[in-house]
Amino acid sequence: MQYLLSFRPCGMAILYLAAAAVAGATPSVAQPFEGLGSATLPTVADTPGAWGLRIVVLNVGQADAILVITPNGDVCLIDSGKTSAAGNRIVGYLSTKTLNGVGNLKTIDLLYTSHYDLDHIGGLRRIVERGVRVRKAFDQGLSRKRNGKPRYVEYVTALGDPNNNLVQDDDEPGFVRHKLHYGHLERMGLEDEVEVHCVSARGDTKGQGHDWALDPSVAKINENPGCIALVIRLGEFEFYTAGDQTGNEWRPSPAIEEAVVNSGAIPAGPDIDVLKVNHHGSDTSSSSSFVQALDPEVAIISTRFTRRDRLPKRITLKQFQENRCYVLITGDGIDPEMGGYADSSRTPLDDTGVFTVNESVVFNDQGNVTILVSCDGRRYTVMGDSFAGTFSAVDADNVH
Ligand SMILES: [Zn+2]
Repeated sequence: MQYLLSFRPCGMAILYLAAAAVAGATPSVAQPFEGLGSATLPTVADTPGAWGLRIVVLNVGQADAILVITPNGDVCLIDSGKTSAAGNRIVGYLSTKTLNGVGNLKTIDLLYTSHYDLDHIGGLRRIVERGVRVRKAFDQGLSRKRNGKPRYVEYVTALGDPNNNLVQDDDEPGFVRHKLHYGHLERMGLEDEVEVHCVSARGDTKGQGHDWALDPSVAKINENPGCIALVIRLGEFEFYTAGDQTGNEWRPSPAIEEAVVNSGAIPAGPDIDVLKVNHHGSDTSSSSSFVQALDPEVAIISTRFTRRDRLPKRITLKQFQENRCYVLITGDGIDPEMGGYADSSRTPLDDTGVFTVNESVVFNDQGNVTILVSCDGRRYTVMGDSFAGTFSAVDADNVH
């Protein structure tokens, strides 16, 4: 089920809101942490009548595809899902005004590819085949991962490789690919009001961490730690997304989440509003220190349960629930055999046996999750199939 979002872009004379649901259903409005109780928690207030930024975490299974759209039609895509069907879904969203609120959009101004795993690049070929133009593409640069190389070739081929040499060459005409570095800033919107900050690339974060693109032993590791991490800002509002970025708490993984926090890489401080949870809710990520420092009001897990990876893990849900944060899962995250969320099988620290998922905080099977940010960046509304809540981006910090 998709909502028909009738929020008007900024600049329209009448402030008006309608969030009508197809098939007559109305989203329940989230009550902030009913039963957990705190007057300082974010409150559900009026939804913004006009929007200045739209972010959609598309429901593409255990994969990532995130669209960022401004009212004047600037488009940023972060990862492209796993399959051609995901590519079709992205193109469908871009071409349908009742979904994107702007019109028939045919250009992706900024494409960010967190890394070259199939669930982050798999829809790109179809997007290009269907005539959507990619103006600028940012990535980790040449893949050094041996078994990942075919995917890198697939990614490069989809975007075009004029010199047929698989490397970026920004000075030559025809190239749209750029190797991204920490600190790079792009802007979107009519008045450049939306900022897209790179806060980590290839493991490097504000000169800290380890830049594996420069490490000859990099072929032995996977690309998850090097995932491109972005903070997208409009005014006070901040959204964090970092593909399958790793943390070191639950399973031994490079501590990039910790490096992001400790380096002070996030421009206005680590506290953000909405987090796209790293690595589909895996226990390779979402370290306590990372979750507590970023302190999101809403966490979105882009996944659907599969027997192979069994995501999301309960230990991950625990991090967010105990941090007083709403969790929205795009697909159905329930393990059908267990009848609940999957336990972590590989960490002795998994004490989730005494943890109960609170269904007034964790919302399963939400479909596309849409975030509409007010023009001044002071409020935002988050909507899934059975969740709708509006939050302040100002003084909305959780209290521990
Ligand atoms: Zn992934």
